[in-house]
Formats: sequence, C-alpha cells, structure tokens
Amino acid sequence: MGRSAIITGGSSGIGRHLAIAFAQAGYRVAFTHRNDGAAAVEVVAEITGAGGQVRAFSSDVGDPASVTAFMDEACDWFGDAPDVLVNNAGIQTWAPLLELSEERWDAVIRTNLTGTFLNTREVGRRLVAAGKGGSIINLGSGCNKLAFPKLVDYTASKGGVEQFTKVAAVELGPHGIRVNCVAPGAIETERTRAEAPDYAETWGSVTPLRRVGTPADIAGPVLFLAGQEAGFVTGQTIWVDGGVFTQA
Ligand code: NDP
Repeated sequence: MGRSAIITGGSSGIGRHLAIAFAQAGYRVAFTHRNDGAAAVEVVAEITGAGGQVRAFSSDVGDPASVTAFMDEACDWFGDAPDVLVNNAGIQTWAPLLELSEERWDAVIRTNLTGTFLNTREVGRRLVAAGKGGSIINLGSGCNKLAFPKLVDYTASKGGVEQFTKVAAVELGPHGIRVNCVAPGAIETERTRAEAPDYAETWGSVTPLRRVGTPADIAGPVLFLAGQEAGFVTGQTIWVDGGVFTQA
C-alpha cells in the first residue's frame, strides 16, 4: 500500500500547494477546507487530472467532533492511519492589542493552536493503535523570532505551536512518531497578496535571498520532514524564511 498524507487547510495558499506536491510525490492525499467548496473542487480536479489520488473534506480544525468525523472518513479511505499529518490550516489578521476582541483572540487560538492539538491527538491515537510510526509537521511562523505589533494573537498561537511540537515529539517519539515544525517567513499567497499588493516587492527587498518566498519553498522542507530521509529528526523547527528573520 502506498503512503498517505492528511493536510489541513488544503484549499488555498501553502496548503493547496502541499496537497499537490504530496500527490505528485505519490502520496494519497486527504485535505480539509472550511467553507470554500469551489476552491477545494479545483484542487481535487488539478490533482486527479494529473493522475494523483486525493479527496477533499469539509472539516473545522477547531471542532473536536468535526475532526473525529473527518479522520474516520479519511482513514476508511486510506484503509489505515495516515503516514503523515500536516497541520497547515491557519488564520491571521492584524489588530492592535488594545483593540483586539475576545472573539478574534478565540478564533485565532482555536484555529491555529487548538486545531493543531486536535488533529495531532486524533492522528497520534490512530498511529499508536495501528502500531506504526508516522510524521507530523506543524506550520509555525517566522514571526515567532521577532515581536510584530498587531499580531499578538497570531504570534501567541504560533509560539504555542512551536512549543507544542517539542512536547508532542518527546511524548510520541517512543511510538516512532516524529513531530516537527516548519516556520515560513514571508510567503506570497493569494491571501498575503490581497493584504498588500506590493507584498512581494516589500518583503523581497528586505530578505537576504532578495525575493519573497513561494508555497513551493515550503513544500520542499515539509516533504523532507515527512519522509525517511528525516527519520532521526524530531522536535525541531526549520525556519524557511530566506534569512529575513535571522538578520539583525
Ligand atoms: P491561506 O489563508 O491561504 O489558507 C488557509 C487554509 O486554511 C485554507 O484552506 C482555509 O480553508 C483553511 N482553514 C482556515 N481555518 C480553518 C478551519 N477552522 N478549519 C479548517 N480549515 C481552515 O493561508 P496560507 O497558505 O497563507 O497559510 C498556511 C499556513 O502557513 C498557516 O498556518 C499560516 O499561519 C502559515 N504561515 C503563512 C505565512 C505566509 O506568509 N503565507 C507565513 C507564516 C506562516 P478555507 O479557505 O475553506 O477557509
């Protein structure tokens, strides 16, 4: 049986590219989306058109019942627990601390941090029960290295994801399950372009590699961590930011 991967938030941006890249690498891919069914249908069509195997599921990463139902269906299709989980779904908007609403705070923590916990717990339980190892990759953020104003909710959630990764790696390591984090810098996606039309120029000009990142730049390290080439790597964060958050 071939390898299988679950990717949360596969209908746009980095997650969309991850779904396509994993399918191209021969994985059977199950990805989730929240509300844009049309975008998910497009991703499925692109992958199946190229001969890949993929299914899209509507699932809210922050809702325990929804996560369990999705995992049941995905694992039925795979015929086993997945080999790989990528906790990619995430949300981000900008708001000053003193104007941040509880609703906004809750939504960001629920999606980015609780979503990572719920999906990891669900897959972890299934991998342990199946007696097989696996690889879990969490999407952090380069912003953890600095302190960006107006991103207090997002930064807190992604800081939590990074620390969650370490503890999960220690607890799940004895079961052969590796847990790592990929922390992107400035990556040009539909979302970031919509937020700032000059996003690529602005970030490209201050990044040591003199360009903005692309979803493909994230897919490479995620695929590496998913595979046996990274079989002794766990509890780590790989910064994929062109050096922008490394410089003084
Ligand atoms: P996008 O906004 O383009 O895509 C986010 C994806 O997550 C969509 O598929 C969306 O589905 C899904 N999603 C959001 N909320 C939920 C939910 N509650 N349940 C299930 N799915 C959900 O984001 P990016 O591609 O830009 O970012 C992907 C990840 O990378 C995020 O974790 C982000 O924080 C991280 N990151 C991105 C950076 C960047 O520069 N782009 C930089 C650093 C980190 P739907 O469309 O249906 O809502």
